Amino acid sequence: MATLNNKAVVPTKFELHSKIKFRCHKDIACFTRCCRNIDILLTPYDVVRMKQRLELSSKEVLTRYTRYEVDEKTTHPLLFLRMNDDEERNCPFVKPKEGCTIYSDRPAACRYYPVGQATHRRLDDDDKTPIHDEWYVVVKEEHCQGFEEEKVWTIAEWREDQEAALYDDMNREWKNIMMKQDIPKDKIDEKRQQMFYMASYDMDGFRRFVFESRFLEVAEIDPDSLEKMKGDDVELMKFGFDYLKYLFGISKTIRVKRAC
Ligand code: SF4
Ligand code: SF4
Repeated sequence: MATLNNKAVVPTKFELHSKIKFRCHKDIACFTRCCRNIDILLTPYDVVRMKQRLELSSKEVLTRYTRYEVDEKTTHPLLFLRMNDDEERNCPFVKPKEGCTIYSDRPAACRYYPVGQATHRRLDDDDKTPIHDEWYVVVKEEHCQGFEEEKVWTIAEWREDQEAALYDDMNREWKNIMMKQDIPKDKIDEKRQQMFYMASYDMDGFRRFVFESRFLEVAEIDPDSLEKMKGDDVELMKFGFDYLKYLFGISKTIRVKRAC
């Protein structure tokens, strides 16, 4: 997910079988031009991959490389990759000749670019069953010369080439939580926003919450799952999604021993 440059979005709905003519490579004149002055929305799995790649604590990654804001409409806290504070607003991970220095762990939005994902939530004809319509958009920014190249891909081939499927699998549950627009706005108060932020992005903080607070006195979690979560950020992240669903009243994903 990235905040797309709406002016550059091609006004066509792209499906997995739709084709684009595009190629990006190190010898292209615009190489790394897209790694500056852009708002890249980070998902929980993006942050886990960055944390592992950089061998830093959650706090260090979040402080050094991200900025967050609360979405006015949904009141969700959103996390963005923090661009350098210079005139060009370069990404902190880009180097002129080398390109992306975290390439194999780059965020999902960077993998998809110049393709963007779009999802629209609507109700079925019965006005009760939510349906998620998913499609793709293509962003043709003036500086991007990749569209002058001859290589043709389907969106499905591009997605595979960029190894985006794993990221989509990891982030799907979280995106579903983000899209639950039936959460009344006033339910996401400041305390819940903090919990949302922690369970989504701050795995070290969330681990402390699970193991070092009174949480386990109240919640019933099976010992195998707990053992996995202790040392594995991805397992903990997945549990975080269950926790958020419970917290927001989306589903009873956690068994409570007794009311706290
Ligand atoms: S993370 Fe990598 S690919 Fe994404 S904007 Fe930064 S340098 Fe570019
Ligand atoms: S601007 Fe386009 S072609 Fe150039 S490096 Fe970025 S994605 Fe590749």
